[in-house]
Amino acid sequence: MPRHTRILLGLVIGGLLGIASNLWLPADLVSTVIKYAAYPAGQIFLRLIFMLVVPLVVSALIMGIAELGEVKSLGRVGIKTLFYTIIASSISVVLGITLVHWIQPGHGLDSATQARLMTEFQGPAQQAVTFAQKSKDPIDIILSLIPKNPIAAATQALEGEMLALMVFSLFFGVGLMLVEERVREPVCRFLEGVRDVSMRLIDLVMDFAPFGVAGLVYTMTGRFGHEILGHIALYVAVVIGGLLIQQFIVYSTLLRLLGGLSPRWFFSNIKEVMLTAFSTASSNATLPVTLEVAERNLKLPRKLATFVLTVGSTANQNGTALFEGVTILFLAQVFGVDLTLGQQITVVLMSILAGVGTAGVPGGSIPLIVIVLQTVGVPGEGIGIILGVDRLLDMCRTCLNVSGDLVIATLLSKSEKAALPQQAYARWLKRQEA
Ligand code: ASP
Repeated sequence: MPRHTRILLGLVIGGLLGIASNLWLPADLVSTVIKYAAYPAGQIFLRLIFMLVVPLVVSALIMGIAELGEVKSLGRVGIKTLFYTIIASSISVVLGITLVHWIQPGHGLDSATQARLMTEFQGPAQQAVTFAQKSKDPIDIILSLIPKNPIAAATQALEGEMLALMVFSLFFGVGLMLVEERVREPVCRFLEGVRDVSMRLIDLVMDFAPFGVAGLVYTMTGRFGHEILGHIALYVAVVIGGLLIQQFIVYSTLLRLLGGLSPRWFFSNIKEVMLTAFSTASSNATLPVTLEVAERNLKLPRKLATFVLTVGSTANQNGTALFEGVTILFLAQVFGVDLTLGQQITVVLMSILAGVGTAGVPGGSIPLIVIVLQTVGVPGEGIGIILGVDRLLDMCRTCLNVSGDLVIATLLSKSEKAALPQQAYARWLKRQEA
């Protein structure tokens, strides 16, 4: 059975068992099952992947740069990646914001429910607010992208320092291009080894994915308060609707227009990535699978794909950008804060930036939302209103985040005139015709 089918099976079984337990089993029993079986199974899987993310990101990125061969092509690929990222994120945010304006999900929420949700999630909401208050001003944020100590950045990579670690790796890769062959060769051989070993280990861990995924999804559905979903159903529908439009209409159009490719070819090849992202809710944890699928299924050139996908797993998060825009405007509607045009533009810009700055881990975008909320005068504690459904939305937005990385990598390969993806595509077309 192919791996993506097994993962899908894990997801469906875990999800259904969770929903059934939630509906029919006593809450205590469900908590025990979660505590001693589902949660540990999910966490073992996630942690095994996270454990390999730092060595993989560092080695893959340095090698990605070194393999690009010259600083000039790095510059060209870098600028194109940035360009596509900004375009895709902007479409995403504008799409989300248009939907919120049109559907107005925040106006239907009555104040009793609002107060109840805020009390229920007071603890985590307060944590996010405290974090937001500690956050630095914009200049400090930019400066902190250049780590003083790359080892410290590596130890904190999954707590928000991933971009800094990437900056170090990129810089190191550039250095590697500039030194003479005799020096470069052993370093490259070593890093290539680290990269290949990490990928091999991930492959091993992925064999456990169906169980891990079942555990993760059971933990979510078994605990899920369906009642909360009912109260803010319209908001949830706007987020998911926006994500679906971006995923299947916007990306399909981009793939067709800019890449001349069939969206069906693309999406059928990336199923495993979408499933992994959906179940782990983490772009960083999905990265190894994304890299593998890019090479194995889409046949994207490794040196290009490694660079775009690794950087993209943190810096190109279209789903997160859309979610941030929608959530901020939704909460503004709930609290009756009328945003001026200037403030709305601030929301758009900050949501695009948030898509770049958000850590690729579960719930990575929550602290950033609180910062933007406070900037436009909506109480940060209001985040409590949506925390109950965040995991569900996180799974959906992460799926878009990683698909977006693959869309960009595919379009970039096309514009760099890579031959292999075209040949793979031609073979697929022929099979379809036959
Ligand atoms: N979980 C998301 C990701 O890893 C980030 C977020 O929006 O919270 O891509």
